[in-house]
Amino acid sequence: MLLTITTTHQPANELGYLLHKHPERCQSFDMSFGKVHVYYPEVSVEKCTACLLLDVDSVGMVRGKNADQSFLLAQYVNDRPYTASSFLSVAIAQVFGSALQGRCKDRPELATTAIPLSARIDVLPVRGGERFLRSVFEPLGYEVEAVQGPLDERFPEWGNSPYFSVTVRKTTTISDLLTHLYVLIPVFDNRKHYWVGDDEMEKLLAKGEGWLAGHPEKEEITRRYLKFQPSLFRLALARLVQEEEPEDAEDEDQPKEKAEEVLEKPISLNEQRLGAVVASLRANGAKRVLDLGCGEGKLIRELLKEKNFEEIVGLDVSIRTLEVAQRRLKVDRLPTMQANRLKLIHGSLMYRDKRLEGFDAAAVVEVVEHLDPPRLSAFERVLFEFARPRTVVLTTPNREFNVTWETLPAGKFRHPDHRFEWTRQEFQGWAQRLGERFGYAVKFLPVGPEHPEYGPPTQMAVFQRKEDSHGRFP
Ligand code: SAH
Repeated sequence: MLLTITTTHQPANELGYLLHKHPERCQSFDMSFGKVHVYYPEVSVEKCTACLLLDVDSVGMVRGKNADQSFLLAQYVNDRPYTASSFLSVAIAQVFGSALQGRCKDRPELATTAIPLSARIDVLPVRGGERFLRSVFEPLGYEVEAVQGPLDERFPEWGNSPYFSVTVRKTTTISDLLTHLYVLIPVFDNRKHYWVGDDEMEKLLAKGEGWLAGHPEKEEITRRYLKFQPSLFRLALARLVQEEEPEDAEDEDQPKEKAEEVLEKPISLNEQRLGAVVASLRANGAKRVLDLGCGEGKLIRELLKEKNFEEIVGLDVSIRTLEVAQRRLKVDRLPTMQANRLKLIHGSLMYRDKRLEGFDAAAVVEVVEHLDPPRLSAFERVLFEFARPRTVVLTTPNREFNVTWETLPAGKFRHPDHRFEWTRQEFQGWAQRLGERFGYAVKFLPVGPEHPEYGPPTQMAVFQRKEDSHGRFP
């Protein structure tokens, strides 16, 4: 089975950097199910093509296994070596892992640039035919070309085979293209997939972030991906929360280079922020508390100091950060009583998550500004519609204050990963709209030294679920 990726973005030979594979070498990798070879049949400044050839050893795979005895021959005579399937996805993840994640050491800006890309898959078994193929790729903005092969060239009267040669084209990032292929290739095949693990749903949700929830075929994709297991399928669908269209164009400002902490340190903003959040949670009588986007656990450390917070759950999308939190909080060495109060969980605020339901309060400290604006609406529903804690304490930078930092160039954000920073009016408008939509009363509090004109460096909103004060949902 063969995946061919071509770009005409010039200089095209930089595709080698994007894929982390040198264009002048043929490289081979051993997989548990066979061998993968990567080579470039065409390398020039105008056009560059990379091939990933997957050589599945279907005999080696079954050797020594006492698998399906009912039809032994099928283990040896099958289309596994030739047709694209979940094996190809596994190969993409292992061989083009950095590109899949959007990382590129030598050309970082190229990894985030949309460039003209095409991917051809020979030979893709498509259950559902060309119509299904188009209905999967076209909503994602791909131009699709599909050629169906005859069952046997010598006997045209036998009709077509279920196999297609498929080319998809789009101006996009390499990471987007590979992500779509990774999730979608196995969807066309109805075979039992190679990787059927318990974490399959997590993988789908992680890789589907930002596009799967809004895909018109999301049900079919999810159902097929999870191999028709109704329980997993329902669970995954329930967690996919429809994102809405972005309201405005994203802010074009480039992120700043210097760390947010360096800027904020002289006014001990971090301590003031944590103090304000803890005070507010305490004042609301919260016992069971979520720290969403908990990062390295700074708030959790403060919460652990107070006995009235009986249960503390920290969630973050970054496993690496959770590991740091685990270390910094010395979770392994905490007395049992303390350790029992705390749970660190991996998850994304973009997806509905049952583990977040039934809490008194949620803190969301310096997290919203890290979320992509088109995905904010998914986060809003995950928190206010599904998790629905009684109290939400949310902080975010006040952009107006930035001008008071001489070291921060005009128009820049405080941290390179900030997708936006709001003025007081923008933040309050957003929070008020949320409150009205989901039935929460909102109060705003300044955090840090207030500037007479630009206000405080950090802004905080405290949301209070209305049904508790009025006894019913408005
Ligand atoms: N609340 C912490 C960390 C703030 S930095 C503090 O005040 O110190 C923002 C954090 O949000 C990071 O740890 C980042 O990994 C996390 N984050 C970003 N996107 C997320 C998402 N979709 N779901 C959960 N956490 C996310």
